[in-house]
Amino acid sequence: MTKTSFSRRNVLAGLGATAGLLAAPHIASAQASAGRVVVIGGGFGGATAARYVKLFSPDTDVVLVERDATYITCPFSNYVLAGIRDLNSITHRRDPLRQRFGVRLVRGEATAVDTNARSVKLKDGASLPYDRLVVAPGIELNYAGVPGWSEQAANTVMPHAWKAGPQTVLLRKQLEAMADGGTVIIAPPANPFRCPPGPYERVSMIAWYLKNHKPKSKILVLDAKDAFSKQGLFMAGWESQYPGMITWIAGKDGGKVESVDPKGMTVTAGFGKEKGAVINVIPPQTAGRIALDAGLAEANGWCAVDPASFASRKAQNVYVLGDASIAGAMPKSGTAANSQAKVVAANIAASLRGVTAPTAVYHNTCYSLVTPDYGISVSDTYRPGPQGVAVVPNSGGVSPARAEAAQRKAEANYTMGWYAGIIADTFG
Ligand SMILES: Cc1cc2nc3c(=O)[nH]c(=O)nc-3n(C[C@H](O)[C@H](O)[C@H](O)COP(=O)(O)OP(=O)(O)OC[C@H]3O[C@@H](n4cnc5c(N)ncnc54)[C@H](O)[C@@H]3O)c2cc1C
Repeated sequence: MTKTSFSRRNVLAGLGATAGLLAAPHIASAQASAGRVVVIGGGFGGATAARYVKLFSPDTDVVLVERDATYITCPFSNYVLAGIRDLNSITHRRDPLRQRFGVRLVRGEATAVDTNARSVKLKDGASLPYDRLVVAPGIELNYAGVPGWSEQAANTVMPHAWKAGPQTVLLRKQLEAMADGGTVIIAPPANPFRCPPGPYERVSMIAWYLKNHKPKSKILVLDAKDAFSKQGLFMAGWESQYPGMITWIAGKDGGKVESVDPKGMTVTAGFGKEKGAVINVIPPQTAGRIALDAGLAEANGWCAVDPASFASRKAQNVYVLGDASIAGAMPKSGTAANSQAKVVAANIAASLRGVTAPTAVYHNTCYSLVTPDYGISVSDTYRPGPQGVAVVPNSGGVSPARAEAAQRKAEANYTMGWYAGIIADTFG
């Protein structure tokens, strides 16, 4: 790669922290041919990375490989279950990435990566050489992780709905079809998994639907864990908004699911067997298949990365971000993936020109709705540390335990603003 004439001092001055990342288009002022970046996966992580490499380094050829025509967000898919959103409103196209930013969109599935030859193979046989590769395939569901369950069971009677789309529709239809007075069983996995508050927002949103349409029904949460994200806030919300409807059983109290029987619609957990009218199994997960196949994952199924850049620990010139990575204290969220992607893009733009990358700062906020007018959130800022990405002390926190209805309502409004903002920032 050609070295540029702009000085390291200028880059560092412009790129010191979060504000610096926003200033990273300074890199773009350099005159250079800046190689080719291939990005696998056009979700929150990959689409943001593709967009920001182009912003920071317009002369880089950026190719985004994505197998699906549109992106249906998991964020807000719980609201589809509640009947307060439809699938169309959470479905997005990637065309602005091409039209506005010049990202080349390749529709296809990446099936192999040759990290020595630096090329990605697609299902149709095509081969894409790269100078830098971004791997952002999200998660793979471990169907075998729940005895008795299977992909077939998930597609017919016991959906996971942990990838939004047909699974969301199936779960919604089941809720609509169930009789008033039935039990909805939700079984979240052990850590780590995609969206730590997600199962509990789902509990809330299903409770909202049941309260309004099938008020004699119950929700039983059979958890593999003993504690969960924003637990105090969720439980206080459930008590005040849905009294008597929701029972949560911790793993240590027999909540961990041992097996399921899709034919009999039963779940066997430590405390015994339970029949469900609707059963939502959220299984254990790993990094997306291509990350595993490319040899980028550890034995635990997740991809270790350098906390300063999200460069792979396993292969040179490869970056892994979003849910597929294991990033210290950062949760697996769309906001986290979007934040990591900007750091990756700045590192790639800098490395292609042989200059020093800015110091990484990451951010995450997760909003959840307890009711459509009752929002709660958790927020933090992170920096690279010796043990991985670490929370900056006192940089964030959760919503207050006690709050007026107006404050919960304000957070519900912020939730809508957050969604509009991140969609615009990711897909343009
Ligand atoms: C119910 C629920 C609610 C959630 N709510 C929130 C929320 O409120 N806020 C929040 O921040 N996060 C939320 N999340 C988490 C968020 O959805 C994920 O953390 C985020 O999608 C991760 O982004 P990613 O880019 O790593 O993966 P993904 O968004 O899954 O994107 C991966 C992309 O890669 C593509 N792909 C995979 N393999 C290949 C391949 N081999 N070739 C080509 N393409 C490939 C996929 O088609 C997909 O488009 C929620 C999740 C769930 C399940």
